[in-house]
Amino acid sequence: MTDVLPAWTAAEGAHRAQELFAATFGDRPAGVWAAPGRVNLIGEHTDYNDGLCLPLALPHCTFVALSPRPDRTAVLVSAQGSGTRTVDLDTVGRAGTTHEVAGWPAYVAGVAWAMVEEGLDVPGFQIAVDSCVPFGAGLSSSAAIECATAVALDDVASLGLLQADDPGRARLGALCVRAENEIAGAPTGGMDQAIAMRGKPGHALLLDVADGSARHVPLDLDASGLSLLVIDTRAPHQLVDGQYARRREVCEAAAHALGVPSLRVVSDAVADGGEDLASVLARLHDDEQRRRVRHVVTEIARVRELVEVLESAPGGVLEGDRLAEAGRLLDASHTSLASDYEVSCPELDLAVETARSAGAHGARMTGGGFGGSAIALVDSASMDTVADAVAAAFANRGFTPPAFLLATASAGAGPVTGNLEET
Ligand code: ADP
Ligand code: MG
Repeated sequence: MTDVLPAWTAAEGAHRAQELFAATFGDRPAGVWAAPGRVNLIGEHTDYNDGLCLPLALPHCTFVALSPRPDRTAVLVSAQGSGTRTVDLDTVGRAGTTHEVAGWPAYVAGVAWAMVEEGLDVPGFQIAVDSCVPFGAGLSSSAAIECATAVALDDVASLGLLQADDPGRARLGALCVRAENEIAGAPTGGMDQAIAMRGKPGHALLLDVADGSARHVPLDLDASGLSLLVIDTRAPHQLVDGQYARRREVCEAAAHALGVPSLRVVSDAVADGGEDLASVLARLHDDEQRRRVRHVVTEIARVRELVEVLESAPGGVLEGDRLAEAGRLLDASHTSLASDYEVSCPELDLAVETARSAGAHGARMTGGGFGGSAIALVDSASMDTVADAVAAAFANRGFTPPAFLLATASAGAGPVTGNLEET
């Protein structure tokens, strides 16, 4: 039987972060906070087009132990990094400028920077990070570290945003997007931070990036005897940064050519029958733009369809035609991402194809692509069969062995309370 990567319990994650904090700073932290990684059920490469997506928070979290300091310095250590780093919060500069923050501390210092930019008063701090979210696996370890830092700073600086519930969470998420875009220099679209802040157990999050609104959509796979198997392909994806930015640019150029502020406007016009997709595409003279637009518009439509399937399932139980339709939508999303959006890779295609032939109801790549992870909707009873088949297919092709996780819809970022051990 293939192993599934376990999620740490809150107590275990807190213990690890506290231990690292004590070993590094010789002290106890003011507290421990956590934020989850995520998988996106459907709606890929739609967020930066003001579109819709449907992510869920993983049970796998990043934990931060943090204490404020009386100065404007951040001292950082991570179990996933090497050594201790010091950043002067008053000289944090944007990515690509002389004062840019090199490496992973940008994701942490960037959050404090964004808070200061927006007039919030945050102190210097020391922070120890540990995480069971796989790194660079398309499961958004970057949003997890940002959002854990954001709720920690919100708490120690008494900003009150977490207490302001969903609007406060949305605001913290938006600050983390600024950290990632402007300080870490990754032009991501906002889905990752929204779900890491606003996730709810037993629910996926229908996120409308156009206005930042969100709706929790029931996703009780257990009740349906289903599991969402995450396959981390562990494929090297060195091209991802430039390719992601390129996709975003082409979408913006296509929107410009069509005379609309974003491709969401096109998607809405097609959805309400005011336009048909073929005539929109015919107005574009660039084949690359046509294919990218076709993906974005059809993908936003698939998000709407999947939400309808989930919300219409009696008692939340997904079975019969509804289950088949959900699987078909996942499959169609993958095909569109692979052929029209061209962000898949041999490892992702193999994971998806093998999962389907081994009995998955549907499967697709998730996250930015060019490596990272795929998801497969499987009967819980056949999870091992599917995972074993994927592992065997990878071995057969000489690929790095994949890792497997189970995605159960979990909570968003917050303080880790209860059952914390003394260190
Ligand atoms: P993903 O978000 O899919 O995991 P990214 O490339 O967006 O991949 O983000 C990964 C980067 O985030 C890492 O290279 C590192 O800089 C930072 N990061 C994430 N988690 C941690 C952690 N626990 N400790 C230190 N850095 C982290
Ligand atoms: Mg990321």
